[in-house]
Amino acid sequence: MKAKGAVLFEPGRPLEVCDVDVAPPRAGEALVRMAAAGVCHTDLHVMQGKFSAPLPAVLGHEGSGVVEDVGPGVTDLRPGDHVIPLWRLSCGTCEFCRLGRPALCPEGARVRNSGRLPEGTSRLSLDGREVFHYAGVSTFCQYSVVPEAALLKVNPDVPLDRAALLGCAVVTGFGAVTHAARVKPGDSVAVFGAGGVGLNVIQGAKSAGAATLVAVDVHASKLDLARRFGATHVIDASAEDPVEAVRSLTGGRGVHHAFDAVGSAATVRQAYDVLGRTGKLVVLGIAPAGAEVSLPLGSLVFEERQILGSFYGSGRPRDDIPALADMYLRGNLKLDELLTRRYPLERVNEAYAALERGEVARSVIVF
Ligand SMILES: [Zn+2]
Ligand SMILES: [Zn+2]
Repeated sequence: MKAKGAVLFEPGRPLEVCDVDVAPPRAGEALVRMAAAGVCHTDLHVMQGKFSAPLPAVLGHEGSGVVEDVGPGVTDLRPGDHVIPLWRLSCGTCEFCRLGRPALCPEGARVRNSGRLPEGTSRLSLDGREVFHYAGVSTFCQYSVVPEAALLKVNPDVPLDRAALLGCAVVTGFGAVTHAARVKPGDSVAVFGAGGVGLNVIQGAKSAGAATLVAVDVHASKLDLARRFGATHVIDASAEDPVEAVRSLTGGRGVHHAFDAVGSAATVRQAYDVLGRTGKLVVLGIAPAGAEVSLPLGSLVFEERQILGSFYGSGRPRDDIPALADMYLRGNLKLDELLTRRYPLERVNEAYAALERGEVARSVIVF
């Protein structure tokens, strides 16, 4: 079948919306009619060549849709099911899967780097030429073939445009708080970057009972949103030194937890510098490939600070995402406020330009 998909042919070029050929699902795969796809920063890294991926590829990894058809041997999905594609496939049997850390599964990394489905081929092509899948899910396409192992059924009461956000921004931000940092009631928290992921760190920290909750960003509109998501204080890092400002808000003590949701050496260093003794820095922003940071070893040892990476929420997306969907349906998770703009697929480059300008919390492509 033909489907409109946003293809990246080479880094530095805009995405091109093409009529892509989508082959039927094979064994263990499902055809998903996409409903919405999140405009996440990680795809932008690929577009800018800061992250490599096999190209040409249909990009997009955050999304939601409805199962249209299933291949042989698919047991848990049927047409009509609402699903969220999980952009990091897991095998279920390796050391990391057994430990409850499926995002660290080597098979997931292999599939992502191959640009093909686990079975070794692509279901996407253009005029007979192979087109790669991005992260095994390629959500910037009207239809995508996704392995059953990478599809999560979601409660159909959650509107699909909002469900899409659960699969990347929300689970990544919320999980960094609950699984990686383990924020406790009364803790002080500083969050660097109040975009799609950072706002979810903020609402996660609020829900965990953080007392002082400081958001740092350089865009006034994001700082306004940060307050609505639970920040008790906001700091415009374009106008004042965020390190001094956070330290003074904590009476010079420094915070219990700092989060970097930006993925730059400068903000990671600032987030480290606002920690108090035994403070924990969680880095969850995705940095361009090869990025490095320098840190003072003195305070790391003498103050027993901790530094931790967090990927895909450091938990089990299959358990965590349904729990977050329930929170939303009970009115305890802000998704409506997170979704600030909707674009048709034809305007995907415009959506990314707005993301780069820092105009939006999270926008989605709607099909
Ligand atoms: Zn993402
Ligand atoms: Zn595994």
